[in-house]
Amino acid sequence: MSKRCAGVLTRIAGPVVEARMTEQPAMLEQVSVGELQLTGEIVALRHNQATIQVYEETGGLRPGEPIFLSGHPLSVALGPGLLGSIYDGIQRPLRWMNEEAGRYIRRGERAAPLPDRAWHFVPTIAAGAAAHAGVLVGTVDETEQIQHRVLVPPEWQGIFVEVVPEGMYRPDEIIAQIEDATGHRQILTLTQIWPVRRPRPFAVRLAAKVPLITGQRVLDTFFAIAKGGTAAIPGPFGAGKTVIQHSLAKWSDAQIIVYIGCGERGNEMAQVLEDFPKLTDPWSGRPLMERTILIANTSNMPVAAREASIYTGITIAEYYRDQGYDVALIADSTSRWAEALREIAGRMEEMPAEEGFPAYLPSRLAAFYERAGRVCTFSGHEGSVTVIGAVSPPGGDFSEPVTQHSQRFTHCFWMLDRDLASARHFPAVNWLTSYSFYIDSVSDWWSQQGGDDWCDLRQKALALLGEEARLQEIVRLVGADALPDHQRWVLDAAHLLRGGFLQQNALHPIDAYTVPQKQLKLLRFFVDLYELGRDLVAGGVPVLRLRQVLDIPHLLRLKEDTPNTEAGSIDVLGARVREQLLATAVEHRG
Ligand code: ADP
Ligand code: MG
Repeated sequence: MSKRCAGVLTRIAGPVVEARMTEQPAMLEQVSVGELQLTGEIVALRHNQATIQVYEETGGLRPGEPIFLSGHPLSVALGPGLLGSIYDGIQRPLRWMNEEAGRYIRRGERAAPLPDRAWHFVPTIAAGAAAHAGVLVGTVDETEQIQHRVLVPPEWQGIFVEVVPEGMYRPDEIIAQIEDATGHRQILTLTQIWPVRRPRPFAVRLAAKVPLITGQRVLDTFFAIAKGGTAAIPGPFGAGKTVIQHSLAKWSDAQIIVYIGCGERGNEMAQVLEDFPKLTDPWSGRPLMERTILIANTSNMPVAAREASIYTGITIAEYYRDQGYDVALIADSTSRWAEALREIAGRMEEMPAEEGFPAYLPSRLAAFYERAGRVCTFSGHEGSVTVIGAVSPPGGDFSEPVTQHSQRFTHCFWMLDRDLASARHFPAVNWLTSYSFYIDSVSDWWSQQGGDDWCDLRQKALALLGEEARLQEIVRLVGADALPDHQRWVLDAAHLLRGGFLQQNALHPIDAYTVPQKQLKLLRFFVDLYELGRDLVAGGVPVLRLRQVLDIPHLLRLKEDTPNTEAGSIDVLGARVREQLLATAVEHRG
């Protein structure tokens, strides 16, 4: 494609350059910069001066080099072939680049974002039918598990004047033509283009009341997230943010995962790029990548593309939501993204606000999390985008701006704790400071799963842990021996709950993932045990006696010894332990 020069470079400052334009660009228009045609975006305009954020290394660029306009805002290509892809922040395929151009993408290099292959398209509509946003044109089996629903894009309206017959079609081939009221024809291919900074519209926003089951007991039971909800995972370095996010990518019951590796160290992301393609989806036994999209922009890649990666990811997530899927978007880490914002703002010589971050940091974070939601799509189906972002505050200081603003804009806050992590208590989610605003909304779902007592159980468990924390203060001063028996039992029961329920080993074949039924039964087991013991101690049975009767190591291993399919055995054990304890009480009285 020959492009016309629309301006010349006048100044280069890292990822931000300035140009004198001979043609008027639009704000946020995508442009090509210099002889190498690096991808950029207009971020400020003043008379004929344009400020451009460049998504590739700008080293070697010289004033006087040309600028080319694209005529559209920074956009992504949406269509079959997204699943299984690995992209950089501006949707350049990394796998293709790896094979063809070595590990790193060469500057100015272009590869079609969607694989150039033919897909088996099955039309579901015929010429003559009305066309408007969300109408199903046909389907493509994108992977073994996911059917790609080709829909009329938002804002299109008219009549189908042509729909191709079933057959094999490449991403850019015509599959339908739609004519609007003025006689203007629009061509539909398997590829649709959408500007990344613009949220995709939907019909109606729905209440988020179905939990996203993560299989992580501390999350599902104590700090549940709803499908379409938002969560932030703040935690110091090494506290387990990445491990939790990998567990979510592998185990959560979202149908599609968009994983954004954003600004973390290159070797960590290299690990993801190596590991994920080898993982098997625990639900289907098929490769996990068949329902996963990876976006990688590590700390050694251009900083502006890191800023874009979040938008690229969420636009892809919304696209599958619009097809009626539950999508989880996982970003590691939003702090590195905010640092990219800060660096670019600095280069643009903007007035810094808190800790050097630009004043628009909060509004950008809000806009990102607001794109989460459970919706009724234009097709009349339900779909959701759940957004989970890690936050890595420097020095683990949660009072810094990114943590603080993330807290304002998310409804779950899973705070990871340095002390828990160093005590090897994983997931190191602090149960005293973390919270979820979805508990009331998802409790109906738990009731339907046989958990009428779910709310009650989790409140009792949290109260027990709160009481333990209070007693620990006293223990620190005077030692555990000084406590009366009923308080010692609180410590014992809390110890069992922490070790036997909250702690969960991401690497253990059984423990890595717990189905809701097993979570419920385990929780009930430990709460019932606590209450029974409390009553017995109140009736005069010494704590020492309870300790003798209970096989504590066995109880702590229950989570690992009980496969998800055999959760019923926990009830059986519960009944037996109850009998034993009651018999002990009788013995003691006699
Ligand atoms: P962060 O991303 O917060 O810097 P990581 O997720 O890389 O931290 O975790 C650091 C280490 O902690 C991991 O390499 C692993 O050894 C351990 N770890 C974290 N979470 C778990 C878990 N759920 N089960 C077992 N080990 C864990
Ligand atoms: Mg990490």
